[in-house]
Amino acid sequence: MITIKNERQFAKMAEAGRCVAAVHQAVAEAAEVGVTLKTLDLVAAEVIRGWGCQPSFLGYQGFPAHICTSLNEAVVHGIPGGERLAEGDILSIDAGAIYEGYHADAALTIPIGEVDEESAQLLEVTRRALWAGIDQVRAGRKVGDIGHAVEMAAAPYGYGVVSQYVGHGIGRSMHEAPQIPNHGPPGKGYRLRTGMAVCVEPMFNLGTPDTVTAQDGWTVNTADSRRSAHFEHTVALTADGPVVFTVSDLLTARPVG
Ligand code: MG
Repeated sequence: MITIKNERQFAKMAEAGRCVAAVHQAVAEAAEVGVTLKTLDLVAAEVIRGWGCQPSFLGYQGFPAHICTSLNEAVVHGIPGGERLAEGDILSIDAGAIYEGYHADAALTIPIGEVDEESAQLLEVTRRALWAGIDQVRAGRKVGDIGHAVEMAAAPYGYGVVSQYVGHGIGRSMHEAPQIPNHGPPGKGYRLRTGMAVCVEPMFNLGTPDTVTAQDGWTVNTADSRRSAHFEHTVALTADGPVVFTVSDLLTARPVG
């Protein structure tokens, strides 16, 4: 697990975060009806290289692409291939980049054209759950406080909260200790402290929280084939509270809370 020790390390993670945010913006702009997921992967590749970063997903345990594109009932880890986006789809875009040895990792789920009300609400609630979780990234809180805040955001809607996949520490590697759950009681688990960097990443399903892995060995689908949303940011715990490195609507790290 990383402890960010100085401004230089912080700046490198922030730069990786800006790259990931730029990938999200470019891919979201390109994600129109009729476009293939493979095309979106090429867009991501160009942004990552152009930024002077390396793609962290490509080759990770053999993953064959620069981003994960998870459509509709896919929760995470979808491989961008020949499928074309259709009106009413929801698309999770998960991206990671490395800048001078430091990682950032983030995801968002976007509507393609007009989506049904149920899907729109799923996206909005999952996005809010991410920020509720991020607000718990404070010195002295525990990872269980993050999970609890995320789970409570889903509760009024009866969504299935995916527990099989979790958030994580991040730094010199994409996945570091500790694991960041999306459910469970508050006040439990690893104690957060200044200098840590973590990825908070709620995954909410319209139906069952259970998942199945597709035949491609990667794509994680909901067990009941109902839709799923996924949002994620890379967050540093600073003396001033959480700082999010991967915000895509303004290309700077910004403090929250
Ligand atoms: Mg992640």
